[in-house]
Amino acid sequence: MRPLADMQADVLDSVPLLAPVTIGFEEAPGAVLVGDVVAPEDLPGFENSAMDGFAVLAADVADPPTDLAVVDDVAAGSLPATVVIAGTASRIMTGAPIPAGADAIVPVEATEIVDAEHVRILSSAAVGQHIRPTGGSVRAGTLVFNGGLRLRAPHVSVLASMGVLPVVRHRPVVAIMSTGDELVSPSTQTLKPGAIRDSNRALLQGLLHELGADVRDYGIVGDTPGSFEQALDDATRGADVVVTSGGVSMGAYDVVKLTLRERGTVDFWKIAMQPGKPFGFGTVDGIPFFGLPGNPVSVFVSFEQFMRPALLAMMGADRIFRDRVPGVLDTGIDTNPEKTVFVRVSTERDRDGVWHATLSGGQSSNVLSALAFADALAVIPAGVGRVEPGGSVELEMIHWPEMRTREEALGDR
Ligand code: AMP
Ligand code: MG
Repeated sequence: MRPLADMQADVLDSVPLLAPVTIGFEEAPGAVLVGDVVAPEDLPGFENSAMDGFAVLAADVADPPTDLAVVDDVAAGSLPATVVIAGTASRIMTGAPIPAGADAIVPVEATEIVDAEHVRILSSAAVGQHIRPTGGSVRAGTLVFNGGLRLRAPHVSVLASMGVLPVVRHRPVVAIMSTGDELVSPSTQTLKPGAIRDSNRALLQGLLHELGADVRDYGIVGDTPGSFEQALDDATRGADVVVTSGGVSMGAYDVVKLTLRERGTVDFWKIAMQPGKPFGFGTVDGIPFFGLPGNPVSVFVSFEQFMRPALLAMMGADRIFRDRVPGVLDTGIDTNPEKTVFVRVSTERDRDGVWHATLSGGQSSNVLSALAFADALAVIPAGVGRVEPGGSVELEMIHWPEMRTREEALGDR
């Protein structure tokens, strides 16, 4: 058996970087920046008002109330027509350029209308108050983002504000197929004896879409070498990665293993991990090939441990492994000490901020429901073998998004 980390390193060493492309802002979230981004210009590009109000000289309003003559009205998107001098003020809107002469903004809430031409300032103002300075958010020439960053919406918004088109690595095109003569479409309502629904493609499609991959679905391929080879021919054309499930273990009909003995440079490994022990990796027609096991839970864990980091690495990301947090395994467990075991757990944080994990169901690799109920994988490293109830574990969080209901977040409001 190969240690998990060795195999992970091998996979990461051998996958290629995808080509760079310039894409639209709307497609950018989830993509990975190729190079560093240096601000081409100041942000904001000009001094502007942070409030709706009046642009004044701070010295004029040191002793309020003060009546000032209103000499201009500056809307966002327009330019001031007049200089603000002693005894005058310009009405100004949020985002509008600060008129020359003015050195403070008094918010409209701290003013009173006297007549059509005059305003009463009710509070004093510090110099620079409510003025957004040029370059206050980002200075021209400074490093804004490092290459390798996986863009989220706020990053894309910063690029958009500077007019910097996102240069990212293109989305990986991933060809998927399920192998097995027992498999039928998941929409099948009446199963013939011995048949099961193909759940792996639905799983892989979901996981791949989350990563922003472009999925090419080659469907269910039987255990006949001819049909598998045909599908493989099609799949390798134009794909960046080919992934199959099933057919990689020791059975007499393990079509992936049998076929790829003759073709490609795929090695089949027993990895010291559980679930997900049989695993094929290499290239077919020069394309990276992942032969995942058949059991859906093994598919998930192999995807998480090999494919997710590999695809993110191909996309150029520098952070490619999921977050882990220390936690307590409330239910103790015995595991195979020769393997790194990923235990499906549900997690909860107590009042002191400590994460507690309990088994989310049976741990055999075919118990898919326990995966669906899990929000983390408790990692029991090779060499450990037993965790007592209340023992410490690392929790690899597989589900970090919205966790709180309306009631939990807002109470009975
Ligand atoms: P195999 O590695 O092909 O022997 O498959 C191992 C186990 O996973 C068998 O019980 C298969 O029936 C099951 N299996 C294989 N492929 C799928 C699939 N696409 N969906 C659900 N179960 C599968
Ligand atoms: Mg099979």
